[in-house]
Amino acid sequence: MEWPTTALEVLSEKPLTVKNPKTWHHTHSYGGWGKFYQGLREKKILATRCTNPECAEKRLWLPPRCECPDCWHPMEWVEAPQTGTVYTFSTVTYPGELFKLPPGTPLISLEIEGVGTKLMSWMKEGKPSFGLPVKAVFNTDNPTHTILDLAWVPA
Ligand SMILES: [Zn+2]
Repeated sequence: MEWPTTALEVLSEKPLTVKNPKTWHHTHSYGGWGKFYQGLREKKILATRCTNPECAEKRLWLPPRCECPDCWHPMEWVEAPQTGTVYTFSTVTYPGELFKLPPGTPLISLEIEGVGTKLMSWMKEGKPSFGLPVKAVFNTDNPTHTILDLAWVPA
């Protein structure tokens, strides 16, 4: 028998530290939320609304929910407005390894008329401020099939 030929790269001797890269293949099903991401490809923001006529919550949920969080009734898909206002914002100066946007990208929380939830997203252009009117832009040329395919610019 021969010795294995695959050597790990030694990063330091004290303490002994080696580079041992791992790769995983992760298959992720969007399940009932898939339609939201498919909508982004068609420049649509799809939200959901409860179909229970007795439910008190008539506003849209965005990101969408498969069942109503208030009454567990099935939801219907509704196209949400593509304009909103910045509710609050922040920037990430020192992002973690998995942060997919450039450092300093404005992250925003949006108020959208008729939507009962605040949508977290990011600004592709411009500088955020409280109450700033913004409009949606979509990455349809080379979609990532993630929430990052939706961004906002000053309206
Ligand atoms: Zn409901």
